[in-house]
Amino acid sequence: MIKQQSFFEWTQDDLAELLQNWGEPAFRARQLWRNVYKGLLDNPEEMTDIPRELHGRLSEAFNFSTFEPQATTRSSDGSTEKVLFSLSSGHTVESVLMRYKQRRTACISTQVGCAMGCVFCATGQMGFVRNLTVGEIVEQVIYFARHLAKEDLRLTNIVIMGMGEPFHNYQATMRTIKRLNDPTGFKFGARRMTLSTIGIVPMIERFAHEGHQVNLAVSLHAATNELRNELIPINQRYPLEELIPACREYVQQTGRRITFEWALIHEVNDGLDQAQALVGLIQGLNCHVNLIPLNPVPRYTGHASSQEHVESFRDFLNTHKIPCTIRVRRGIDISAGCGQLATENETNPA
Ligand code: SAH
Ligand code: SF4
Repeated sequence: MIKQQSFFEWTQDDLAELLQNWGEPAFRARQLWRNVYKGLLDNPEEMTDIPRELHGRLSEAFNFSTFEPQATTRSSDGSTEKVLFSLSSGHTVESVLMRYKQRRTACISTQVGCAMGCVFCATGQMGFVRNLTVGEIVEQVIYFARHLAKEDLRLTNIVIMGMGEPFHNYQATMRTIKRLNDPTGFKFGARRMTLSTIGIVPMIERFAHEGHQVNLAVSLHAATNELRNELIPINQRYPLEELIPACREYVQQTGRRITFEWALIHEVNDGLDQAQALVGLIQGLNCHVNLIPLNPVPRYTGHASSQEHVESFRDFLNTHKIPCTIRVRRGIDISAGCGQLATENETNPA
């Protein structure tokens, strides 16, 4: 018997070739593609435009729903759901669905763990386990899309801000974006996708030349190398004097605004000295700063800035004409907030 493969690991071209070998007409691949990515179906028997004779063969060859949620947790206000998925390799990964007003945002992961080791991040504390494949990244989105479809709802936004550093799994992440954007399939607008990076300089340069409309966010968190080196080890390799020009180049190349993320940590990076240094770095750049009071993680002693410090940091930026927003923390009670995703190491053997 043929071993079932995840449908989401297949490109439409590869599928067309396979189906042609099965003696199927050329349009069959596109039809199947539409059933899965538009119709969100997971069972060939429900694909009414596919001949019945083919149903069994497709079911034998492909798995259209490989993710078994091992656990789902919902925040007390009901706005946030976190799902722990078991992967076929035995590893686990987390993804989050957030509902806020008219928005339904999927926050998806690109790696199991992360090699960047940022001290305030639970994923970083896990270390790097492995990259996710295109199919595994895409299926997180399809899972939530199917989940919402049961309520006649659709996803409105996708943020690549879950576990892992997307620019450390560059190719799979770019292929995922292309797959989700595909007009013959899921057709998700690039403008409604945002990718967050810790600041891998050569990849920011590469991303600027991809020619798509996906939003870019850079996790800055500190405006001096001295402090950024302490919080974000990769800053030693890509220091601010390389990172900021790469961000400027991105804005110039794409004509798009860039977002900077700043997790405010009490008496670490929430003082006006850092705010001042930040203004110096990014003044005149078409950007937006997101301020997020630090979410608690188990093995980091820092904690969130007080409301007063958060507001004075914001006011300082505003006075200097830097647009910024204080982000409301969501899903903290279920550890679904930024930087809180981590899965037990024993289920994630390297
Ligand atoms: N690796 C990428 C994307 C995943 S992290 C990156 O770092 O950008 C998503 C966001 O959460 C990043 O801005 C990250 O720096 C931030 N983050 C990590 N730990 C956090 C914490 N404890 N509290 C608030 N934000 C955190
Ligand atoms: Fe990795 Fe981002 Fe966490 Fe840093 S903040 S360890 S880059 S996931």
